[in-house]
Amino acid sequence: MLRIFSEELMNPDNFVITIELVPGRESFGRNTDTLIGIAKDAFSDGRVSAVSITDNPGGNPSLSPDVLGYEIFRHGLDVIVHFTCRDMNRVGMESRALQLARMGMKNILCLTGDYSGKGFGGRGAPVFDLDSVLLTRMVKGLSNRMMTSGDPDPFFSGCGVSPFKTLKSECLAQYKKLDMKIDAGASFAITQLGYDINKFNELIRYHNEKNAHIPVMASVFLLSPKAARAMNKHRVPGAHVSDALYEKVTQEWKIPKEGLNAAIERSARLGAILKGIGFRGIHIGGVHRSFTTVARILDRMEKIGDDWPAHMNEFSGKEKNAYYVYDKIVEDKNIPAFKPGLKERVINHWPYGMLCFAHNLFFNKTAGLAPVYRKLAAFLESHDKEWVLKHCLEDPIKIPLLSCQSCGDCGIQHTAFLCPESGCPKHTRNGPCGGSRNGACEVYPDKECIWVRAYKRLDYAGKLSTFLEDKVPPRNWELNKTSSWINFHLNRDHQKEKKQIKQQP
Ligand code: SF4
Repeated sequence: MLRIFSEELMNPDNFVITIELVPGRESFGRNTDTLIGIAKDAFSDGRVSAVSITDNPGGNPSLSPDVLGYEIFRHGLDVIVHFTCRDMNRVGMESRALQLARMGMKNILCLTGDYSGKGFGGRGAPVFDLDSVLLTRMVKGLSNRMMTSGDPDPFFSGCGVSPFKTLKSECLAQYKKLDMKIDAGASFAITQLGYDINKFNELIRYHNEKNAHIPVMASVFLLSPKAARAMNKHRVPGAHVSDALYEKVTQEWKIPKEGLNAAIERSARLGAILKGIGFRGIHIGGVHRSFTTVARILDRMEKIGDDWPAHMNEFSGKEKNAYYVYDKIVEDKNIPAFKPGLKERVINHWPYGMLCFAHNLFFNKTAGLAPVYRKLAAFLESHDKEWVLKHCLEDPIKIPLLSCQSCGDCGIQHTAFLCPESGCPKHTRNGPCGGSRNGACEVYPDKECIWVRAYKRLDYAGKLSTFLEDKVPPRNWELNKTSSWINFHLNRDHQKEKKQIKQQP
């Protein structure tokens, strides 16, 4: 190994280049040989610090990044392994992380992951036992354990961030989630794909204002018409290509050679700008045939050098009606103040107020009646009568109100009293995944993302300061199908970690 990604990225004097490789659904063959070839050429070229390898992208089966990565790693180039929460539960994930550590591959990009795609016989079961924040926390815990048992190096874990969001609720949720990931142990971040320099600037400014210490890399994607179309039509979660850019790319590729030249030029200009505005590196994607394309992008970036401001205009168009954190004019004039109608109040805000009231009355361990509830819960348990409470009271209230799934480890109070088990297909307990689009869920676009709903509820109730404030542990599956009310009062659920969980104000 001649270069170590973590060392290069942590040196503020470096501008780091990585390439994303996307394995296919084959163990041997042309696609796999091409990826190995790109990695070998990148190693010989000497400007690339690491390759990152995707983990069943789009949720569809592909060659494991662990095995492909190991082959590249043994050749001498450092590897970042994408690690999603979609296909394994926490037991499998920990085992996989240990395996990677044993193989020496410690750079892990912790991601929630796209929703499940199609494999043998149809759509696979989505697991999502942990979310990306919890995975990051698990990896940090593992690092500590590994080092006490003699492993000299911890994991170097990174996270994703999606600045290309249009609603205020989505933008703020993404940034708050980034904070949570850093707090959980992320050592670097990589952005999703987009071409709006205002959004890149916004992220860097937010990050600097927070005095966040971790380096942020930006994704730069070589746009083909096929990729541009997929991103424009929202088929790549979290990525964004505007209508105008999609149109332009389609025109450019009418003559394929010219299309490629234009794509290389665009990538190089964007890369040079991102370097100029303060990103610590770029992550180049969309290169599937040969390293020559990457080399051409890097050569051109070197030529552009300090002239990057000359190309800013090309990427500075703002999305109409999109929210920009630091753009008060757009916020004040273009976006109407949030005034829910009667239907919205009946569906969203009144249930919130009612549940908030009930929660503070019955599920506040410091309240005067708490010892009474505890004794009642203990009595029911000791007489094997928990089912009476669950079937006669808890289920009849929670099923119609929340589509409760009886997880027994209720987390509704962290999501403004919406159920993350029934309301979010990825069961996220610590903020949204990166896939929402204009407030709609990545998986079910006809539904609003549960975190957008939570944001609106809290905003309306004047409690926005509590949005994404809790660090919620993973659901305890031992409690599945038991009474969450009894579990709460007998200190069996995740809220026994009292220091981590705040009461609703
Ligand atoms: S509800 Fe939100 S967080 Fe959950 S999968 Fe849909 S977009 Fe992602």
